Parts: sequence; structure tokens; C-alpha cells
Amino acid sequence: MTTVPRPERTIALVAHDARKPDLLAWARHNREVLAGHRLVATGTTGELLAEELGLAVIRLESGPLGGDMQLGAMITEASVDVLIFLWDPLSAQPHEPDVRALLRVATLWNVPVASNRATADLLVTSPLLTDPAYVREVPDHATHRQRLHQAT
Ligand code: PGA
Repeated sequence: MTTVPRPERTIALVAHDARKPDLLAWARHNREVLAGHRLVATGTTGELLAEELGLAVIRLESGPLGGDMQLGAMITEASVDVLIFLWDPLSAQPHEPDVRALLRVATLWNVPVASNRATADLLVTSPLLTDPAYVREVPDHATHRQRLHQAT
């Protein structure tokens, strides 16, 4: 029997402290799906996830220490396919500008983002996640790069 390799996507995971229990419960529920992909996370989230799931998780710096920005850079380099970002809607974060920046680049580069468990469920169970024919469109933003070169 030949098995067709499923495309491995890179799933980035981040949860603010108040949302970490939620993310861990979600990840436990979706462990089998997550096991088929490359996981990357901000420091503390990644540590908890690796412990909870027993899976390899690439750990960046802690979010408030620059981890959100590292993820933003990965998104800009098209190295992230899905972002699960359970941000806290009830408390202000010391790294609010980084949080906004991460969400901004994800939107800019057409990366699907889940900010709650229901959306995260839909993202990781989408058949497109494992369909080799599905390639997410990465905008080229050429107009922006060329904006100062256009004839006036
Ligand atoms: P943490 O960072 O995973 O290191 O807690 C998350 C965040 O607050 O961005």
C-alpha cells in the first residue's frame, strides 16, 4: 500500500496567560491533527504545549520579550501557514504594540488566524490544510514597493 504524504504545514501557536488553559485544552483535543504538522510557538506557550502534547514544538522567545515579533518575521518570510493566537480580550498587555503588529502582518500576508477555539477547530479540520493542491496565495505587494518609482 502506498501512502500519500500529507503536506506538513507550519502552525504557529500563541496564547496570552489568561487564554493558556483554553489553548492547552484545545490542543489536547486536536493532538492528532497537530502531530502531523510543524508547530512553532512563543516561549511559554511552546513550553506548555510540548509538555501537554509530548510533541516537538519550536520555541521562540517569550511573547512579551520579542517572541511575537519573531513570529511576525516568520510570517513575512512566508514560513507560517496558520496562526492560532488566543489573545486576551479582557486585559491590557504590556506588549500591545507587538500583538497588533503580529495580527497586522498576518492579515497583510493572507495568513489564516484563529483567535478563539471555535475558529481554531475549523482551521485545523479544513480539508485544505492537508490538500497538496491547495497553496495559499501570498500577496506580492508590488504596488507598495513601487510606490515611489511611479511617474507622477
Ligand atoms: P508566551 O507569550 O507564550 O511566552 O507567554 C505569549 C504572548 O503573550 O505573546
